[in-house]
Amino acid sequence: MKSGAWSKVSLICLVVIAASALIVVRGVAAQQRTAPPDDGRLRIIAFGAHPDDCELQVGGVAAMWAARGHHVKLVSVTNGDIGHWREAGGPLALRRKAEVEAASRILGSTVEVLDNHDGELMPTLENRRAIIRLIREWKADLVIAPRPNDYHPDHRYTAILVQDAAYMVTVPFICPETPPLKNNPVFMYYTDRFQKPNPSAPDIIVSIDGVMEKKLDALAVMESQFLEGGANGHEGLMPKNAEERSRRVAEVRSGHAARNTAIADRFRSLLGEWYGAERARSVRYAEAFEICEYGRRPDRSELKRLFPFFE
Ligand SMILES: [Zn+2]
Repeated sequence: MKSGAWSKVSLICLVVIAASALIVVRGVAAQQRTAPPDDGRLRIIAFGAHPDDCELQVGGVAAMWAARGHHVKLVSVTNGDIGHWREAGGPLALRRKAEVEAASRILGSTVEVLDNHDGELMPTLENRRAIIRLIREWKADLVIAPRPNDYHPDHRYTAILVQDAAYMVTVPFICPETPPLKNNPVFMYYTDRFQKPNPSAPDIIVSIDGVMEKKLDALAVMESQFLEGGANGHEGLMPKNAEERSRRVAEVRSGHAARNTAIADRFRSLLGEWYGAERARSVRYAEAFEICEYGRRPDRSELKRLFPFFE
């Protein structure tokens, strides 16, 4: 080969190497596997079954923690690859991963999507080990997950997997290659509307009024799920022009806002316990969490340390 040809080849190689390096760097930034620095800030890891569950349940408080410099990771235990009425499989999984990465950039959190098929999650030993490793790698102070009573099998098994990781994260000879945590973290549940065998009974409730617009912005980027309606959507939801689109966006935002208003209204007396009666009356949007008995049991002062929003 002539030297001119060689330099062309090396140029192409350089471009390919630079492009791959860029992809790797972007991947690391979006999907952080290693623990954040030991800087004395809080370390929170939240689990959801699908790429949008964490953002819906804890997106507001995640933004509040992140704004104060605390480290928040949102994990989707499945890749969401059947969560649409028109598309499915690998391309949908990639689309949804990009959506939660965009949402996390808005919230200030880190995100990871595990490559389990949507609708097929099982509480296996392999999955339990994966959850144990994630909690240990993040060196979590606080772990949040759904309750095990829920309409969706993936939500139920995400709950079981996280419950099964509580305590085990401190046991050295399970997953011995990932150092165990010295202390069992505090484990908490999101709130929900299921009544049997027992309704959700949150221990702490946080006003997200100051970050509601940011949360709505983060949810808005998950167009496959909300604008297009996800697994139960249909062609009729798809906006045909700019006017229909802005109407649909407004409809989705008010639906999401109503959900957090319903939490504030339903647990208004708990808001009073945390904010005092007068301030509690004016809270419009809230997220609420219940202590899981299998983690460390925090008292009120530790809850205030984990949720430093009540100064
Ligand atoms: Zn879900």
